Amino acid sequence: MNSLNQANSDLQHFFAERALLPSGWADNVLFSVKNGRFHSFSTNCAATDQATTLSGPVLPTMANVHSHAFQRIMAGAAEVSLNPNDSFWSWRDLMYKIVQKLTPDDAHIIAKQLYIDMLKAGYTQVGEFHYLHHDIGGKHYGQLGEMSNQLISAADDAGMGLTLLPVLYSHSGFGGQAPNAGQARFIHSTDSYLTLHQACAEKLANHATHKLGICFHSLRAVTKSQIDTVLQTLNTTPHKTSPIHIHIAEQQKEVQDSVSWSGQRPVEWLHNEIGLNDRWCLVHATHLTDAERQAIAASQAIAGLCPTTEANLGDGIFPAVEFEKEHGRWGIGSDSHVSLSIVEELRTLEYGQRLRDQQRNRLYRPEQTSVGDNLYQQALLGGNQACDVSLGLAVGHRADFMVLDESQPFIAASESKDLLNRWLFATNKNLVKDVFVAGQQRIKNFHHEEEEASRCAFIQIIKKVMYDA
Ligand SMILES: [Zn+2]
Repeated sequence: MNSLNQANSDLQHFFAERALLPSGWADNVLFSVKNGRFHSFSTNCAATDQATTLSGPVLPTMANVHSHAFQRIMAGAAEVSLNPNDSFWSWRDLMYKIVQKLTPDDAHIIAKQLYIDMLKAGYTQVGEFHYLHHDIGGKHYGQLGEMSNQLISAADDAGMGLTLLPVLYSHSGFGGQAPNAGQARFIHSTDSYLTLHQACAEKLANHATHKLGICFHSLRAVTKSQIDTVLQTLNTTPHKTSPIHIHIAEQQKEVQDSVSWSGQRPVEWLHNEIGLNDRWCLVHATHLTDAERQAIAASQAIAGLCPTTEANLGDGIFPAVEFEKEHGRWGIGSDSHVSLSIVEELRTLEYGQRLRDQQRNRLYRPEQTSVGDNLYQQALLGGNQACDVSLGLAVGHRADFMVLDESQPFIAASESKDLLNRWLFATNKNLVKDVFVAGQQRIKNFHHEEEEASRCAFIQIIKKVMYDA
């Protein structure tokens, strides 16, 4: 497989009968790619001999704003009732048990399989919220970036774009409480975190598709002085525009604990004490007052929504209708990876609002009344901002794109104005047929060239970690 750092310097030409450009759907589109980036677009053209004809509608791929790669191994393994009050917190107990078993090789195999599956779903960039840093018991590896390096190499092997978000995680609760034993593999001091961040920066310097951000696990896990120190230290070139991610208000208990500690709710505290802006991605901003929601929208920070995980964990419903009216920015993430489907994330987001409001067609804007088109466009823009990329079919952008399956009747028969609604609301079959990253085809007719070896390795890891086989 060609490395993502070896982009083709020859001009590649493609033809699509339909393509979703920033201005909307266009017909008979000829486009070219050079050095992994879109070089030109022409519409209403005839196919040419030198152009590769794509077999169906062409769309931008999506950035997945929130991933914990290792959690993929436990998808579907926590659906047995242990007590009448099962919650996020009992799920977390199981996650901590699994964490104790994972080796760097395991982490690589899980992440590679995950990233192949993400590519198959149409995600080509992933915000990897990475906190599994150390060896069992919390002993530091010889290289502080050992586990980060596994994720980078898994992304390279799969051909996936990575926005690495090394996480600062120091405490078990608000106000700097000592970490518990289950968190030993996650814990960094501010100084060791900054050393790790520097190692990641050196590793990723000049990589064609990978980016580096800043990340705090949650307000439970860091103190104000740690946030201040990290931001002051890293707010210099080249990090001064890097995205900053944090888990913020996923659980009511988290909100109550924040109020007990500081008198303020988590988003309120972050807004007042640190300040929000368009670099922030607030993951699971689920529990908000009107004022908090309006503050996020006004700041242009991203609300990092993970609809299938939030549903799986029983977190609550994000006030998306109100946030849309305020022109809030949001992206989608697959988080714990109970689903790897853009369709299911967007559909779950919309359906949650319908169930809450007992009404239909909730997430539209006056300028875009088609729900599917609005969902896709907002998730695309928000994903780009949160992952520090520019996905989309425009000159100069990285040449990432996907082709939907034209043999599916709803795709074949739809007028362009209905295509996204048909894709997002009419079928559960994966319709993402071909996927290109930086001009290189990674998914061809639904398949990845390394999927078989990856699948076999992943089966062995599931057996070993989950069943001690
Ligand atoms: Zn998370």
